[in-house]
Amino acid sequence: MEKEARRPIASASARGSRTCRACGRPYEYPVPRGAATRFYCAACTTLDEPVRRVVARLQRQIRRLSVEVDKLAARVDAAGRTGRDPAR
Ligand SMILES: [Zn+2]
Repeated sequence: MEKEARRPIASASARGSRTCRACGRPYEYPVPRGAATRFYCAACTTLDEPVRRVVARLQRQIRRLSVEVDKLAARVDAAGRTGRDPAR
């Protein structure tokens, strides 16, 4: 099996790629003379701190909801195969 293809996030983080806490996009860190920080990409470091905090909170919420949607989709998928109603 191709382990690398199945786990792209793990191999990306090994190369110094991070996910921005505000916009959720991957970025490289550290970069020589780059504006990016440990938690935010270069573009998001220009945001005012209160704005960045709100955006980061929303980003966390979106991530949590995405995980929840994936879980529910898997449940619906499994129920569809067994013929069970996922709502019960
Ligand atoms: Zn960003």
